[in-house]
Amino acid sequence: MHDNQTVLAKFRRKARKIYWATGKRKKDRSWTKTARALGVTRGTLIRVMDGYEPKEPSIRRVIGLPVYRPVAECLKCGQLHVTKRCTKKLTPEKRFARNAAAYDAWLASPDTQSKLAESMVWAISHEGG
Ligand SMILES: [Zn+2]
Repeated sequence: MHDNQTVLAKFRRKARKIYWATGKRKKDRSWTKTARALGVTRGTLIRVMDGYEPKEPSIRRVIGLPVYRPVAECLKCGQLHVTKRCTKKLTPEKRFARNAAAYDAWLASPDTQSKLAESMVWAISHEGG
């Protein structure tokens, strides 16, 4: 399990262990030293020990939590891709439909029609006889 709560629990265990190691007697133990050893501020550490999940990316990286960023959804499929290009795989049916639609559009275009007419004229003029 690597969900956020597991990561946070692990971090708290580590922090408690460090805290206990900062002094033999309770009055010698220090959350400030513990926080410094972990790379966070004392305030952050206290809040995390109290159950808070930090939102700040720099703190989340230190703790080992995934960092969230706003991602625009794909204009084609509405999913969230990390890559710029759509990576959603098409089913063979959808791929066929897309290719067929592209073929129809290609066939109907004036450019294609004039090229077809040209090649038709060429073929007729070169017919054997
Ligand atoms: Zn997509």
